Amino acid sequence: MTERQAFAAGLLDRLPPVRGRITANAPLAPVTWFRVGGPAEVLFRPVDRDDLAGFLADCPSDVPVTVIGVASNLLVRDGGVPGVVIRLGRGFAGIEVDRAGDEPTVTTGSAALDVHVARVAGEAGIAGLEFLVGIPGSIGGGLRMNAGAYGREFKDVVWTVDTVDRQGQVRTLTGDACGFGYRHSGLPQDWILTGAVLVGEPGDPERIAMRMAEISTQRSETQPIRSRTGGSTFANPEGGKAWQLIDGAGCRGLVLGGAQVSPMHCNFLLNTGSATAADLEALGEEVRRRVKDRFGVELRWEIRRIGVPAEGVPAHG
Ligand SMILES: Cc1cc2nc3c(=O)[nH]c(=O)nc-3n(C[C@H](O)[C@H](O)[C@H](O)COP(=O)(O)OP(=O)(O)OC[C@H]3O[C@@H](n4cnc5c(N)ncnc54)[C@H](O)[C@@H]3O)c2cc1C
Repeated sequence: MTERQAFAAGLLDRLPPVRGRITANAPLAPVTWFRVGGPAEVLFRPVDRDDLAGFLADCPSDVPVTVIGVASNLLVRDGGVPGVVIRLGRGFAGIEVDRAGDEPTVTTGSAALDVHVARVAGEAGIAGLEFLVGIPGSIGGGLRMNAGAYGREFKDVVWTVDTVDRQGQVRTLTGDACGFGYRHSGLPQDWILTGAVLVGEPGDPERIAMRMAEISTQRSETQPIRSRTGGSTFANPEGGKAWQLIDGAGCRGLVLGGAQVSPMHCNFLLNTGSATAADLEALGEEVRRRVKDRFGVELRWEIRRIGVPAEGVPAHG
């Protein structure tokens, strides 16, 4: 057993009993879009909200807890993530529609994929959620990031959000209380979002399906959606477009080790096959430096970076 494995196993001994799956030293790279990064010291997959809340209530307060969705806007550093990483699974993926009244709703768990929610809503004749079809994340990640596309974002469609805090206390908040802003929510960082009620409007399933097909086609023509990427790397600065600044600073196609600025959409970083998380992060920082030098604008990372660098593993030159 390596020192790291022994350490992770030691943490496991300090954690409360659960019904879900809990594993020490669990690889995370295979479940991220970038396919890079080190392991979770411990990975916990709760079976339902009671399992999650009970775990959080009894988990020692000095143990860091990090929640991830399907990691489509996430860079896990090469040294892995200390503490417990929580990934919600099937018990949080239910989707139910209610078409009564002028404001039909979709009640969804946080682990449901945005694209599934869009399709279920569309088939039930609920319009207004079509934009979700182009966002490859989970509902939990979308709520946390206030994800959006085509002029709509989560804040426009959220009625209520279910949360569990670090002490295991369960709450339901209205959308207005979530502090949604551009690509972020104001909810405390350590709250886990377990589900939401989204509101739409009555619509014709065929027209909704056509709109979703348009969005999907447009996406595949303008974004490297089949690559190992993390979506938009930087948030658009006030009054500007991140991709235009990156392009203007000469970064389109820029390479560092196994990482590349996408030649197709230069606000996307790519793992071309052999990238480390350090390569991707260093390339992002290089882009920020060049944009700052050229335009005086400091780009803000939209991609969330978690975990610690691997000791002695510098980015490839
Ligand atoms: C090809 C591609 C295209 C994309 N296009 C868009 C786009 O058009 N618009 C857009 O907004 N985004 C886009 N993204 C980014 C990404 O899909 C969204 O940000 C998505 O909402 C992230 O969801 P996720 O489940 O992958 O979250 P993750 O990437 O796993 O996590 C993102 C953040 O959310 C937090 N989080 C995840 N789940 C929960 C939870 N249950 N409770 C609390 N916090 C949680 C994590 O801690 C992390 O801070 C794109 C990404 C890719 C790869």
